[in-house]
Amino acid sequence: MTERFSFRLDATDGRARTGAIDTPRGRIRTPAFMPVGTAATVKAMLPENVRATGADVLLGNTYHLMLRPTAERIDRLGGLHRFMNWDRPILTDSGGFQVMSLAGLRRLTEEGVTFKSHIDGSKHELTPERSMEIQRLLGSDIVMCFDECPALPADRDRIARSMRLSMRWAARSRAAFGDRPGHALFGIQQGGLEHDLRAESAEALREIGFEGYAVGGLAVGEGQEAMFGVLDFATDQLPENKPRYLMGVGKPDDIVGAVARGIDMMDCVLPSRSGRTGQVFTRHGQLNIKNARHMDDPRPLDEACSCPACRNYSRAYLHHVFRSQEIISSMLLTWHNLQFYQDLMAGMRAAIAEGRFAAWQSEFHAAREQGDIDPM
Ligand SMILES: [Zn+2]
Repeated sequence: MTERFSFRLDATDGRARTGAIDTPRGRIRTPAFMPVGTAATVKAMLPENVRATGADVLLGNTYHLMLRPTAERIDRLGGLHRFMNWDRPILTDSGGFQVMSLAGLRRLTEEGVTFKSHIDGSKHELTPERSMEIQRLLGSDIVMCFDECPALPADRDRIARSMRLSMRWAARSRAAFGDRPGHALFGIQQGGLEHDLRAESAEALREIGFEGYAVGGLAVGEGQEAMFGVLDFATDQLPENKPRYLMGVGKPDDIVGAVARGIDMMDCVLPSRSGRTGQVFTRHGQLNIKNARHMDDPRPLDEACSCPACRNYSRAYLHHVFRSQEIISSMLLTWHNLQFYQDLMAGMRAAIAEGRFAAWQSEFHAAREQGDIDPM
């Protein structure tokens, strides 16, 4: 166990990298996928089961937790790790993005954002200083800078103004974070799809200095082609010897494309949320368990998968419990999707380490093009 936060690269293959982030709460193997535990739970999963899929780190949402049950209450109860029974690393977002997407009646000033809770309409304020305080009360291992992320499309002036505000907030976040050995503060690059604004943002962040750097402002509706277009240059604008985190991504092919462009960490609600709506990810793409073709099918979702849904249950059973709205349906499909995502990351880490990531990507795309197994 280390007392410090550190990152090391073990191998690169093209622009793809594999390595490890060490924290006092454990190692995060990279590239890493972080399941989202919005309200101090990865929905439908026990934390030990999330761990069993291979997850090294979870993401918690500052916005949700500050409103309910509140950061102060979680602090009194021993911090988020103890509260939710997850003793490994936790990354928390800053709350900024979700204020923009969920809260009502927002008012944005140089100081911060005031808004009304989407739960009970109560009034709250988030500033860089308050966001740092909340993330400290939660006990987060990796803290994100408070930033503003405009929805795309937005005009260049709006994106530039927002990015520069976020850079001033990044400096305030750094100052408010203080000296906390073993904990990390990540800066967030903004600048929309613009090369020069991304470069200006990266330069501002480097000057402040962070333990890691996120590519922010993507996965907000711009589409995969535009996102990859930005990652083609944005990751190289960030320091090579620090972890790079792409926020809120994504579908399996988004993740593979991001890793190919030098990303080390990602998070997304997709595998868990999809599990609750009957959408299943496999090597052969996506399937909908609700579809009648699965009704009499005794085969597993994916015979190569080691999760309980695939080892112990048929497509017919999973179809039945989904249609019957049984709770076990969400549990099993979420477990499978999280297992698929973690297996995907493990496969990429091994391929990068062995210098065969290009071949691995070809196999990944070929298996998806085959599509789901033929109906019985
Ligand atoms: Zn499975």
